[in-house]
Formats: sequence, structure tokens, C-alpha cells
Amino acid sequence: MSPQTRESLFRALFPDEPAYRWKQVEQALFTPNAKGWEDVKTLPKAMRETLIDAMPWITCRAERMYRSHSDDTFKAVLIAADGKRFESVLMLNKRGQWTICVSSQIGCAMKCTFCATGAMGFKRSLTSDEIMDQYRFWQAHLRTQPSLATRISNVVFMGMGEPMTNYDNVKKAIHTWLEYTDIGPTRITVSTVGVIMQMEKLLTDDDWPPVRVAVSLHSANQQRREEIVPTTVPEFLKKLADWSHRYAKLKGNQRHHITYEYTLITGVNDTLELAHELGRYIRKTAASKINLIPYNPVAGKTFSRSSDQRIDAFKQILRDYGLDVTQRKTMGDDIAAACGQLITETPAETEAKDRGRIVLDMGRTDHA
Ligand code: SAH
Repeated sequence: MSPQTRESLFRALFPDEPAYRWKQVEQALFTPNAKGWEDVKTLPKAMRETLIDAMPWITCRAERMYRSHSDDTFKAVLIAADGKRFESVLMLNKRGQWTICVSSQIGCAMKCTFCATGAMGFKRSLTSDEIMDQYRFWQAHLRTQPSLATRISNVVFMGMGEPMTNYDNVKKAIHTWLEYTDIGPTRITVSTVGVIMQMEKLLTDDDWPPVRVAVSLHSANQQRREEIVPTTVPEFLKKLADWSHRYAKLKGNQRHHITYEYTLITGVNDTLELAHELGRYIRKTAASKINLIPYNPVAGKTFSRSSDQRIDAFKQILRDYGLDVTQRKTMGDDIAAACGQLITETPAETEAKDRGRIVLDMGRTDHA
């Protein structure tokens, strides 16, 4: 069973309070510089005191924090109230502000063959509070680092888990950010392995926020995709192309556009033939943006990253099809914070791997 949400706990604690109180409480969670309920002066004193005793200010705490050698990426190992661990990443973006890469679940049930999170299996979905609090956690962290920019401008659902299989909680967290932070909907990207059933639901959901959607394609060859993304349903590519046209029609304004993600793995999906197949396929869909992700190594897997020359050749072929091709910058790979590297390690594994990683402890920096 998932832990209780903050809202249901509040309603149980204060059944007779008017509806606006909960909004005040929610807003209070985003008060700059507030470190706990005691700092929220908009609430009556008695309520603050009850909240201090009964409701944790934040649903997760950091067990460990890592900083990449290039200083542009942080990874936190967070612990939820039930003791379960999950990870969250903070990355400097092109505009000199921060992008947070949030988890929507602990572990993942999708089992993509090249992904570390897939290999650890599924533990549970995160609550909307736990998803939303990853923003609050990173915001609080940045306030303790005076030398760093403070603004979180973007959120990507590219941490642990498959957001489409935790649809309601993901949607709730997004709405909360849109209401109480300065992050706009075009700065939020939900990345999905391509859960067609849930994607169909999104099409007719008027309450689905106007965020960006990224679909992890990884191959435009049905058989090859089935081999590396085992949740691929029969006729996936046909269904996705069809979905993309209806998406463009129903949600077809500037804000709603689709990007395809494609992790390039040597000999698996990076042949020039497959690049042509991909180019032809994407042209049949309603989207033309593709983001190539160089494969990040995962312990225990024999896959390897495509060479720079191959990535360039692949890119050029796609450009010749008129596609808008970008390449994802690899960030945080020295602290296992890059795409597909998030996993909850055992303490022994952590100890072994921490040699050579920069571990931050209560604001202190240890060059281990
Ligand atoms: N469940 C979501 C989010 C996954 S993480 C989804 O499937 O989209 C974001 C991206 O990183 C996905 O495209 C995922 O397939 C990709 N990825 C997973 N493992 C990777 C690895 N080892 N190297 C590079 N990208 C990887």
C-alpha cells in the first residue's frame, strides 16, 4: 500500500477546516526560505503546532548526495517515510539554470534491457507528494549552496520509473508545480516508454497539463524494439504513429509537441540501415524531433556506446530526412546519475562505488 498523502492526512487531522486551508498549506510548502511548519506564519499557531507533530515538512530525506567532478550534476539518494530509497538528479542546463530529473516510481517494471532501473525491478509508485517534493528537496539544497545559481527552470520525468503507469500522481505533482512555482508547462517533459493505453487516456483527458511528451523509441524496427524494450506491444510502431497524429490534432498547439528519444547502442540499434528505417518511420508520424542519447554504461550489461563517428553518421542520415535532431549531453556519468543509470544500491555496493566519487555530506565536500 502506498503511504498516505499529505492532503488526506490534513483532512483527517482537521476535518472541520474550510477548503481554503488546504490550499494555504500547499502554498506554504513552497514558501522561499521556510524550513518547517514553524516558519509558516499564514497558518494559525495551533495548526502549526499540530502539523509539526503530525506531518513531516518533506516526505523524503537525503541519505547521500553526490556531486559530479564537472560540478554541473548532483545526485541524491532519497529515503521515503517507509524506508525505501530512490534517486533524484539536479543538472545545470544550457541557460545556466537547473533541470531536475525526477523519479516517478521506486524501481521500474518495464525491464528495458539496457537500463539499470529496469534491472532492479519494481518496488512501488511514488505518491504525488514524493514526486513533488523532489523539487522542494532540490530547491532547499540550492539555498545551501550560495555559489550556485538558484533557479530550477525545468523538470524532466527521466529518473526511475515509468510515469505513464503512475499517471494520476504524476499529473497531480505537475499541477502543483504549475500552481506554486515559476516553472511553465513547456519546461516540463514527461518521458514514457510508450504505454499506449495510458497515452490514449491522455488524449481525452482535459485535465492533462500542456507539458511536453518524450517517447522512448530506441528502434523503428518492430522486431528490434521488442528485443530491447520488452513491453513493446504488437504493432507498436503503427499504434504510436497513429497516436501521434491524434495527439497533434487534439492537443496540437505549440506547447504540445512530441520528441522521440533514441539511445544509441553499438551493433544493436545504430546501424545506418536502422537510421534510414528510423528516418522513414518518423516522417510518417506527426512529430519530427529526435533526441539521440549516447548509451551510458550499466554494471552487468555488455552493451556499449556507439562511437562518435557512428553517432555523427546516424545524425546526418536523420537530418537528410528533414528531422530536427539533437544529441543529449552526457551528464553525471561519474556519479551514476546519467540516463538509465539510476538504481538503489546495497550499502556494500555504495561503499565500493563511492571510491572516486565526490560525496557531499551535510554541506561538507569529501573528495573520497
Ligand atoms: N520510463 C521512462 C523514463 C526513462 S529514463 C521512459 O522509458 O522514457 C529516460 C531515457 O533514458 C529513456 O529514453 C530511457 O530508455 C533512456 N535510457 C535507459 N537506460 C539508458 C542507458 N543505459 N543509457 C542511455 N539512455 C538510457
